Amino acid sequence: MREYDIVIIGGGPAGLAAAASAKRNGVDSILILERDKELGGILNQCIHNGFGLHTFKEELTGPEYAARFIDQVEELGIEYKLHTMVMDITHEKKITAMNREEGMFEIQAKAIVLAMGCRERARGALNIPGYRPAGIYSAGTAQRLVNREGFMPGREVVILGSGDIGLIMARRMTFEGANVKVVAELMPYSGGLKRNIVQCLDDYGIPLKLSHTVVDIRGKERVTGVTIAQVDKSGRPIPGTEEDYECDTLLLSCGLIPENELSRSAGVEMSPVTSGPLVNESLETSIEGVFACGNVLHVHDLVDFVSEEAAAAGRNAAVYVKGERTAAEGKVVRMNPTDGVRYTVPASIRPDQMDDQLTVRFRVGGVYKNCYVCVYFDDECVSRRKRRWWLPGDGRGEAGEGEAFRAARP
Ligand SMILES: Cc1cc2nc3c(=O)[nH]c(=O)nc-3n(C[C@H](O)[C@H](O)[C@H](O)COP(=O)(O)OP(=O)(O)OC[C@H]3O[C@@H](n4cnc5c(N)ncnc54)[C@H](O)[C@@H]3O)c2cc1C
Repeated sequence: MREYDIVIIGGGPAGLAAAASAKRNGVDSILILERDKELGGILNQCIHNGFGLHTFKEELTGPEYAARFIDQVEELGIEYKLHTMVMDITHEKKITAMNREEGMFEIQAKAIVLAMGCRERARGALNIPGYRPAGIYSAGTAQRLVNREGFMPGREVVILGSGDIGLIMARRMTFEGANVKVVAELMPYSGGLKRNIVQCLDDYGIPLKLSHTVVDIRGKERVTGVTIAQVDKSGRPIPGTEEDYECDTLLLSCGLIPENELSRSAGVEMSPVTSGPLVNESLETSIEGVFACGNVLHVHDLVDFVSEEAAAAGRNAAVYVKGERTAAEGKVVRMNPTDGVRYTVPASIRPDQMDDQLTVRFRVGGVYKNCYVCVYFDDECVSRRKRRWWLPGDGRGEAGEGEAFRAARP
């Protein structure tokens, strides 16, 4: 069986940044396993700009941003295998993978970094009635078809979901000559960035209907139309508010789900809120020596924060394999997100293992105006910050996921 100090599963921005960081922190024996034909992950199909403002102070396209990290991996001489699908990992950090050249093979790692990203929520998970005609795509699939494979999924388009991928695809389809008729959003607020609503919808006269959902899909062979209706506060369609749209394509942009089948089968403890592993201050999962970062841990809006988090995971994995961790005293501080904060990453902190300061990321579950975010240690308020707005999906340095606070060692 082959042996490596650190094996990284996934060669997207998280895996690349984790690998570079582990190498810079003194570990040479590193292997990245990537199922795709190239490194870079989802960024390879995101040809719009807007990436890297925090990291490089430049507006890069997705492939340009990925290329900067691929270059680092090449320059550092980090080994990687493409076309290689990881099939299984065990509690003992044994990895089973396969590719065409080597068939099925096993690797024993001292540490594993989970960086498998996430996938889009499919129609099956959305309970939309109607037939199953051609013409229904996830927004990410449509993005790949248009940007990488040169196919147009359709001409008359309705989009369900106003997260950033849906918004960006509304503009992209318009650039390619499609008529995007409406973007319907179940929630009373958009899940995407304000600047994307302006630049991708308003600039092209595409209406955004908040508190609306698709209640019927028509067409047997190919989509011929959809019906959208307003929903009440509990998300139920309100009879009498239905509107019919003729279209040949329905794009779904209804959320992302961390890709955690491998983590689950290895016995990693999962968060029911993020659908990602529960991690401590070192971004280490419930299995010692197995770390997680990027979209497999919790869905990020901004790749810059993925890279930042992944660098920390890589550094912590390096400290672990070099045996440099201080002996744990056993004291664990549990994070207890309440009053609108849905989750924190990490979910727990071992004070004797953390640096002097630690970044804690979180997301809120609703729209909050003129509010405070407070951090309590037992009953003592140790940090209090006022915000004019706090929005669930507005994560790029404005609020939401991008918002992080630095916790000092208690
Ligand atoms: C459509 C879209 C638009 C976006 N737009 C922006 C934007 O404008 N600005 C911005 O900053 N961010 C944007 N983002 C977010 C950013 O791209 C992501 O946060 C980032 O790519 C996540 O990195 P990751 O490495 O965690 O996941 P990914 O990029 O998804 O990489 C995960 C990798 O793991 C591999 N993998 C998974 N399972 C296995 C396995 N079993 N074996 C081997 N390999 C495996 C996958 O093939 C993939 O290459 C966008 C994201 C999407 C989806």
